[in-house]
Amino acid sequence: MSEHNRPEAFDRLRRLPVVGRAADWGLGPHAVSKRTREAGTRIAGLDVTESVCPYCAVGCGQVVYTRGGELVNIEGNPRSPINQGTLCPKGSASRQLIQQPGRLTTVLYRRPHGTEWEELELEQAVDMIAERVIAAREAGWQDTDERGWRVDRTLGFCSLGGATIDNEENYLIKKGFTALGAVQIENQARI
Ligand code: SF4
Repeated sequence: MSEHNRPEAFDRLRRLPVVGRAADWGLGPHAVSKRTREAGTRIAGLDVTESVCPYCAVGCGQVVYTRGGELVNIEGNPRSPINQGTLCPKGSASRQLIQQPGRLTTVLYRRPHGTEWEELELEQAVDMIAERVIAAREAGWQDTDERGWRVDRTLGFCSLGGATIDNEENYLIKKGFTALGAVQIENQARI
């Protein structure tokens, strides 16, 4: 790649949905479909984004209202054939995922036999998780199964995702766990 065309190439790469979402944590323009942009606003003066409730596999459509990037309101999307503008109590409260004052924003750890939660630095917590993943992978590793067939897999851990994980994240989780040798990979979402 020459110096001349490098910025354009990077720009094209960033426009790929999965790269764009990773770069802006799924909140930027890459997360907004053409249909959403054209949806218009019901509450005057606010930006609107069509989304999907993250709580369960029903996948109710939501309309998310923001002002200057700040979340203002979430309500059921009348254009969704699934919920037709309605939300259950859990979906109606999904704004609290971000704006609930009691929301935990630090890593808490309770060591074996411990009775108190300890605050950890994120980097330390990630290191501890990595150590446990490596140990469990090795402890559960199988070169062959009981019939002697080559399997090269680990039964030391599995992945069970929730509905708050989106398509792109699920894609990366599947790839990552498969690369580690895991075979038990599931998710409750069916949308
Ligand atoms: S609004 Fe309720 S039923 Fe609909 S997806 Fe969310 S949690 Fe599920």
